[in-house]
Parts: sequence; C-alpha cells; structure tokens
Amino acid sequence: MQTGDTIIACATAPGLGARAIVRLSGPASFEAIAGLDCGTAPGEHRERGVRAARIRLGDSHQLPCLIAEFPAPRSYTGEDVIEIAIPANPTLIERVIASAIDAAAGVRMANPGEFTARAYLNDRLTLAQAEGIGSLIAAQGADELVEARRLLSGERGKHYHAFADEAMTLLALVEAGIDFTDQEDVVAICGADLRERAARLAKQIEQVLGSASGTEAQSEVPRVALAGVPNAGKSTLFNAILGRRRAVVSDEAGTTRDVLEERLDLSRDISGGGEVLLCDTPGVDTGSNGNLDGRAQAASRSFLASADVVVWCDPTGRFDDAALDVPRRVRTIRVRTKADLPRVSGAVEALEVSALDGFHLPSLRRAIADAALGGGVRAGVLPRHRRALRAAAGELRAMELELAATGRNISEPELVAGRLRAALDCLGELTGRMTPDDVIGRVFATFCVGK
Ligand code: GDP
Repeated sequence: MQTGDTIIACATAPGLGARAIVRLSGPASFEAIAGLDCGTAPGEHRERGVRAARIRLGDSHQLPCLIAEFPAPRSYTGEDVIEIAIPANPTLIERVIASAIDAAAGVRMANPGEFTARAYLNDRLTLAQAEGIGSLIAAQGADELVEARRLLSGERGKHYHAFADEAMTLLALVEAGIDFTDQEDVVAICGADLRERAARLAKQIEQVLGSASGTEAQSEVPRVALAGVPNAGKSTLFNAILGRRRAVVSDEAGTTRDVLEERLDLSRDISGGGEVLLCDTPGVDTGSNGNLDGRAQAASRSFLASADVVVWCDPTGRFDDAALDVPRRVRTIRVRTKADLPRVSGAVEALEVSALDGFHLPSLRRAIADAALGGGVRAGVLPRHRRALRAAAGELRAMELELAATGRNISEPELVAGRLRAALDCLGELTGRMTPDDVIGRVFATFCVGK
C-alpha cells in the first residue's frame, strides 16, 4: 500500500441525496483546496475548522460548499485531512474530485479502505478498530453492530493484547528454562504451573469464541465461488487453488458452461482452517463481453447469490461494483488475476494473484479461510478473528495434553516453546503487533473506496 501521497474519494454512499462528503488526506490536501477555494463566504466565521466556501469547478462554475479542515495529526488518518460537503450528485462529485486532482501535484484517487489503512499505519486506530469500522459499515443486524462496537471501542483489542501478553510471558518462562538446563535448581516455571496457566488462557480465548464454536462444527461446508467476466482467469485460478487440473481452461471466452464444485481443504496450509467447497462459475457478463449464453449467465447469478464468499476475479483490477450484483451478506474478496501481466491504469487495491506462476496463491487461500470459516460476524466474532483465536486455543490445548505427564521439569521444552510461539503468531495477527503485510492487505481489500 503506497503512502506519502494525497488521496481523494467520495466518503458517502453513491447516488443522489442531500449531502455528499469528498475527503482528501495527505500532505497536498490543503494545497489542493487552496487551488479551488474562491474565498470564505461573506459573514461566515471559521469555527472548529468548518467554514462555508465556494469552490471553483472549471472557469465559470462556483459551487457553494462546506469545508472542514483537520490539520495533522488530529484527523481521522493522522494526516492533513479536508472534507468538502456538497450536494450529493454523482456528476458534481466527479467534477470536484477531478478539479482537486488537477489543483495540486501528487493527488490521486484513493483505493478501497485506504483512509482507514492510513489511520492504522499512523497509529490512529488499532487493526481491530479498523476492522470494527469495516464491520460497522457492513453490519446487517443488532449482533453485528454489537461486535463492531466492541472492536471500535477497543474492548476486543484489550482482550487480544491480554491473551498475547500471557502467551508471551509463558514463552519467556519456558525459554528461560531452556537457557538454564544445566542448572538443576533453576526452574523458571514448573510443568504443572505451565499446564494450568495454558489451560486458563485457552479457556479465556474459548470464552470469546463463545457457544458459537459448537454450532459452527455442525454447519454445512461454506461455498466459495469464483466470479468475473469470461476469460478473467477463473478456471485457471480454480485449478491453481486446488493444486490439480479440474476445470477446462481456454482462450475462448465463455468456455465454462456449468458450475464446477470441488472440496478444498485449507487446514493443510492454514492452522485452524477447515474445508470449503470451491466453485467455478461460468461468469458474469457485463454487456461488452457478450459470449456467455443466457442460461449460463442466469446459473452464475443465482449461484453467486447463494454463496458464502465470492472471489471476484478481474485482470484489469478496476472492479466495476455494478457488475457484481450479490447480496450484502456475501463476503467478497477482490482479486486482480493475471498479476504477472502489467497493471493498467485505474486499478484499485486488491489481492494480486497470478495462477500461472503461483504469485500470492497462499495469501488468497488464507483470505478464503478468513472469509469463509467461522460462520460470520453473526456468531459474535469476525471470521478472521475466529480462525486465529481457534488456532491459538488449539495450540494451547495441545500443549496442555502434552504436559499432562510432565512433573516439575518440562520434559520437552523446545516442543512446548514451539506451541507457544505458534499461539503467539496467531494472536499477533489480531493485535497487529506481528501483522504480516498480507494480513493488512487482506483486511483492507474488503473495504470500499472512501473509507
Ligand atoms: P475463465 O473464462 O475466467 O475461466 O478464464 P480461463 O481460466 O479459461 O483463462 C482465460 C485465458 O487467460 C487463458 O488463455 C489462460 O491461459 C489465461 N490466464 C489465466 N490465468 C492467467 C494468469 O495468471 N496469467 C496469465 N498471463 N494468463 C492467464
């Protein structure tokens, strides 16, 4: 994710309405607005950074608006932020954005989730809080709102940090024991204490997962559908994810006529992962690509609407929102397929994957596990969090069993330390302390532009 430049996007829902907010963030925000500003409206005062103004759109058109200024670091992103409130009209919004991009060097369209990603990278939000914002936007019921609030308030984050701290302490104690193996009388932590503390920690983690973990085991295998226009590279990706040739790949658009389904076991490469049903669909036609017959098209559409997760494949990386018409409950992962080919202009933030050379295939498999496994926010915890928590608790429970026969001294401290490190890695994905780049990519790839 590129930072340091200035990004702009409409931060409110698309369509006509009373007010839209165009948001700028980055070092050129103030310069861009100075280039458009025709001066504060007479009689208006500048209060708490908000003022009435007129901005120049082209040579003659002046648009009355409200400008809110948030100088760094006290802004949403931690950078200089400007918010321009204008009537919500898509043409006007486009013109304001285009004028601001012209008004200063280094201003560009924001990628999905980029404002919130910057807030996270500038320490204005924790990763859990950033995900809380994503959940709040997508929330469809009271349960989801409650979970979003827990994430946003930092309540979830505090629990995760406490879990990680305890796992870190236990690891330090075990490692101290390894360092002093030659000194019989030095025991940093005895086996029984370690077992008890590991069990207590596992129980606390399981409490966060709640009773939902029981119902989840019985639920049916989540369906993950590949979607995109014909020739987007879906069948090739389907085969690459499975690791075997199952779908027919062809240069001729519209070759896949029926939905193909194959079980995919994600537990082999992701701790805490399970099975999903991976489905290759004939694709969705956007009109410009009329090679798909109506029957195949209708089959795709109804199938996508019933899927749990849609992997939206687009080699251009532009992801036309209107083309993928799925209910809001379906989680969508944007994938720029054929990432071995150069990027074209207008590409938004997405997972870059090449089925030909395997680039980012492991990240995609993890993103699928995050989105598909865990039963959704409705069960109380975000799927990504559920997977990591379940995996951490699993390591601790396994360690507890291995320690059952241990007395005062821990017989295989290296094995125990390995378990604790694995648990800590899982918890680190949630606290953000040890967040690998691909986790950040996965979190923000599910956001929409302007957030
Ligand atoms: P589908 O219609 O969406 O299922 O697309 P296919 O999987 O049949 O692929 C269409 C064409 O794109 C074929 O010629 C593939 O060889 C090519 N293709 C698929 N994936 C990749 C990729 O990752 N990189 C490149 N360069 N070509 C790809």
